[in-house]
Amino acid sequence: MKTFEELGVAAEIRKAIEEMGYENPMPVQEEVIPYLLAETNDVIALAQTGTGKTAAFGLPVLQKINTKENVPQALILCPTRELCLQIAGDLADYSKYIDNLRVLPVYGGSSIESQIKSLKRGVQIIVATPGRLIDLINRKTVNLEKVRYVVLDEADEMLNMGFTDSIDEILSKVPDNRTMLLFSATMPKEIAKITRKYMNEPKEITIGRKNEGSNNVKHVYYLVHAKDKYLALKRLADYYPNIYGIIFCRTRRETQEIADKLIQDGYNADSLHGDLSQAQRDYVMQKFRIKNIQLLVATDVAARGLDVDSLTHVINYGLPDDIESYTHRSGRTGRAGKTGISMAIIHVKEKGKIREIEKIINKKFEVGEIPSGHEICEKQLLNFVDRLEKVKVNEEEIGPLLPSVYRKLDWLEKEDIIKRAVSLEFNRIIDYYRDAQDIETPSSYSSRDEKSYPRRSERSSSGGRQAEKGYTRLFINVGRTDNVNPATLMGLVNDYVQGKVTIGRIDIMQNFSFFEVPERDAANVIKSMNRQDNNGRRISIEIAQGGDGGGNRNRSSRRSQRSEEGYRSSGNRSRHSRSDGSSSSRGSRSGGSSSHRKGGSR
Ligand code: AMP
Repeated sequence: MKTFEELGVAAEIRKAIEEMGYENPMPVQEEVIPYLLAETNDVIALAQTGTGKTAAFGLPVLQKINTKENVPQALILCPTRELCLQIAGDLADYSKYIDNLRVLPVYGGSSIESQIKSLKRGVQIIVATPGRLIDLINRKTVNLEKVRYVVLDEADEMLNMGFTDSIDEILSKVPDNRTMLLFSATMPKEIAKITRKYMNEPKEITIGRKNEGSNNVKHVYYLVHAKDKYLALKRLADYYPNIYGIIFCRTRRETQEIADKLIQDGYNADSLHGDLSQAQRDYVMQKFRIKNIQLLVATDVAARGLDVDSLTHVINYGLPDDIESYTHRSGRTGRAGKTGISMAIIHVKEKGKIREIEKIINKKFEVGEIPSGHEICEKQLLNFVDRLEKVKVNEEEIGPLLPSVYRKLDWLEKEDIIKRAVSLEFNRIIDYYRDAQDIETPSSYSSRDEKSYPRRSERSSSGGRQAEKGYTRLFINVGRTDNVNPATLMGLVNDYVQGKVTIGRIDIMQNFSFFEVPERDAANVIKSMNRQDNNGRRISIEIAQGGDGGGNRNRSSRRSQRSEEGYRSSGNRSRHSRSDGSSSSRGSRSGGSSSHRKGGSR
């Protein structure tokens, strides 16, 4: 890896970027900077945001500016006002030690008069959104005749936003012998058209492969019924207590609805979409940037202006209509060398889109399983313990109060104190999730092998048999395809269930099996074995319909159908307003046909 000095970056610029913490060039900088410093050819760079592209074009352009001439020499076009401000800010930082270098951002939504005044005073670099620049050109307040460098940043976004004609018009005012740089995260056909029309034998630089998403991003999709989408979203948010992410929705309305629900349920969330005023959007973005908001619910368009490098997650609340947008969404995480997860909560009809996106990003999605209540509790608990370990204790403030606290708790053992602290934080979440049903994967598919996973009706059908009297018939999702036979099944029970359990009839089917255990042991067997591992496959076990031996009508098979509306736990922001729905019962019958014993006991 080369240093900035070896790339040819001038000393006064190096001093500024070193102060900003840039120690070594990022890959796009290593490619673009020496090329632009040495030559005046055009460049197309396929690079995601967050790859360091602003410095890649910014440093050489700054270095090539003649500060003795007070006229625009470089023009940088970008899609949004926020990006415009960010680029101008970065350039101002990089050029801190260059005398007489002026950068002006021009963008819509703010006073044109003050921008005109600054232009009259003289600037060498203009960073502009296309609409406002056209306005200034029409008022004859900006002269582009001396421009030698043109940068189109996030070119694909500018085209998406309908700026093609404006770009045409602007470029017609710039001398033909300019050097042109085009940065784009994706390479749709329209960009290829622009490059043919305006660029001269451009050097093509690809950071990552063409149209490929960042390598630091893991892509996971969760297949759920439409009715469970919001519940799934909450579970995922609960499963990652330190999540800092954007939830992308398709419409403004959906964005507002989801944000409202999350806020009502106690999540630290807010919305960002086009129905908000610019001032409101600025306010929300600022709160999100400083992490006062953990979850930002946004439309694609509104989120464009937001540049945050440290997102842990991007959540696609459904996939975008235009699948190219997925690259932009997911590219918002896994930036600046960090890793990130892009999750998509989808319904069956969207599965085809997943395959199309995989082709674009050149990466496979992982198939996720919505975490169970138990898993969420465990994860939150570990997170709490972690925070407990790392909390900064303010000895000075708290010290004087401690003796009386010690006196009061003197009668408790250390273990008791820990138990109580944990219970204070967790009783509500544990209560909430205790009986929460798993969110079901639509029957046409599951994260397990598509062929081998039985439908819920099959799983609960008891295989056409009733349990022996006093026994409960259980369904388990492993069968002959998993090399399971009665002996290995008993081995599995041995491995995971503590204490002695008598096993009654066993029926091994192709992709799943049934086995019977005494009624009194059924709940324990299910609890102990569910979600455990069998050769890399997660065990799913439940009472088979009609699988109760008769004595326990409506008891052991009862599963709560609680609605998960209204719960949130996140440190002391927890709110709980659970509304319980009806409960249902499956698996009851009377009488019991005798079955020959196959199994043994342990
Ligand atoms: P960009 O893609 O230009 O938005 O840059 C992404 C982030 O990386 C920004 O926060 C930059 O300040 C930062 N950055 C750019 N170049 C470097 C570098 N060479 N070393 C460290 N950070 C950098």
